[in-house]
Amino acid sequence: MVDAIIVGAGPAGLFAALELAKSRFDVLVIDQGKDIPERICSMKQRGHCLHCQPCHIMCGVGGAGTFSDGLLNLHPTIGGDLERLAGGQACELVEEVDAAFRRYGASGELQEPTALDEEMLRHKAAAAGARFIPIKQRHMGSDKTPQIIASFKKDLENRGVRFLLGATLGDLLVENCRVRGVVLTDGTAMEARCTLLALGRVGASLVGQLIDKWGISARYGPLDVGVRVEVPSVIMDPVTRINRDPKFHIVTHRYDDFVRTFCTNPGGFVVKEEYPDFIATNGHSLIEEKTENTNFAFLVRLALTRPLENTTAYGMSIARLVTTLGGRKPVLQRLGDLHSGRRSTEQRIARNAVRNTLKDITPGDISMGLPHRIVMDLIEGLEILNRIIPGVNADSTLIYAPEIKFYAREIGVDEGLGTNLRGLYAAGDGAGLSRGIVTAAATGLLAGRGMVRDMA
Ligand SMILES: Cc1cc2nc3c(=O)[nH]c(=O)nc-3n(C[C@H](O)[C@H](O)[C@H](O)COP(=O)(O)OP(=O)(O)OC[C@H]3O[C@@H](n4cnc5c(N)ncnc54)[C@H](O)[C@@H]3O)c2cc1C
Repeated sequence: MVDAIIVGAGPAGLFAALELAKSRFDVLVIDQGKDIPERICSMKQRGHCLHCQPCHIMCGVGGAGTFSDGLLNLHPTIGGDLERLAGGQACELVEEVDAAFRRYGASGELQEPTALDEEMLRHKAAAAGARFIPIKQRHMGSDKTPQIIASFKKDLENRGVRFLLGATLGDLLVENCRVRGVVLTDGTAMEARCTLLALGRVGASLVGQLIDKWGISARYGPLDVGVRVEVPSVIMDPVTRINRDPKFHIVTHRYDDFVRTFCTNPGGFVVKEEYPDFIATNGHSLIEEKTENTNFAFLVRLALTRPLENTTAYGMSIARLVTTLGGRKPVLQRLGDLHSGRRSTEQRIARNAVRNTLKDITPGDISMGLPHRIVMDLIEGLEILNRIIPGVNADSTLIYAPEIKFYAREIGVDEGLGTNLRGLYAAGDGAGLSRGIVTAAATGLLAGRGMVRDMA
């Protein structure tokens, strides 16, 4: 029996472990993935992990954060709603997470728009009927982030935290409505006073099964679905020089839907994400290797009401359809082809002015896979964005589908991130409580504190 079992070695799990270890509790971190040196996703292999099970981009020490762009969005309402979870402590938590990453080696200048630039972008956005959200950001870089996570893990081990890697959670060990530990898929049962679910997006469907099986209180969150957009960096430079990952929020006229820019990678690469049932796209950028392109996610937010509240099921059916359409490769289309109502072909992509940084794609027509409403929102949203960033809506702009962010099944938690099942805590993206490194890490801190409080 250990004091705490943390399932998931992503930012949420690692920060929870840190908090528990500081209070000298006995902690075991379990992850289905591998340690950093064995996560074979070398820079060159990224985006081609079709045969990795579990996928090395998403799983292992550091979680999806290890091979992510390493962009720290230092704002309590970007990547989740820390203000709702932590109230007045939200900004402090963000600073704590930033300080910890710096302690483990994150350098990278803090990027923050000057008052003048901020006003200019706010004005341009407002004139186009959109909003610009100014935030502080620190870029660790995909190539530096693994070292930072490695020194984080080393520090945890020095503090006595143990890691069990290559071990997959199958179920919870529950007795009399109290969680007593976990059961691995090989049948091994492990007992703990506290158990934290920090499974990340890759574990969201297992979390859903556990919610249903054990009556964990939860609600469906919204779904963000759309495309990854890729343009020449020169188009985005005037904005990304001010804010590396600029957040523009748009509400479309036709459907009154919320559309936003997210996860911008100047000089970056589009990458493919592997899930058991479907593929998706994402982006990253390296400090030492730049492309001529900038990519960003362009996402439509959808919430559903009865009879289909299950945004995960809806999102997965969209993602599966696009995955089938692309033969388990992202569908790539030139924006001009979408406007003309025709598919992109290999020849059209080959002669396009913008070169696709992700090569493992199928040229096609995103409107064959994404719902009409989403396609119309994307078309209208890009027209609005073009008024803020001229050139974004060019015919040569590349769009990859699907780009999808599930925030499904938000587990109901108290202020220490404890659930309605005693002994069970939840943190991070897999519990629907975050959507980014900093917020996931901050929920880990909150859960760690909750467990410390309850075990004291
Ligand atoms: C390519 C890419 C780029 C990104 N770029 C950024 C960025 O620049 N900035 C940003 O803020 N966010 C970024 N993100 C998102 C960010 O990485 C996540 O929000 C963050 O890692 C979530 O942390 P987490 O701890 O909740 O989950 P994760 O980091 O996903 O970790 C969850 C861990 O749980 C493990 N797990 C899951 N199921 C099981 C199971 N059944 N048994 C055992 N272990 C299990 C997984 O193996 C994984 O290691 C990116 C994501 C990707 C994929």
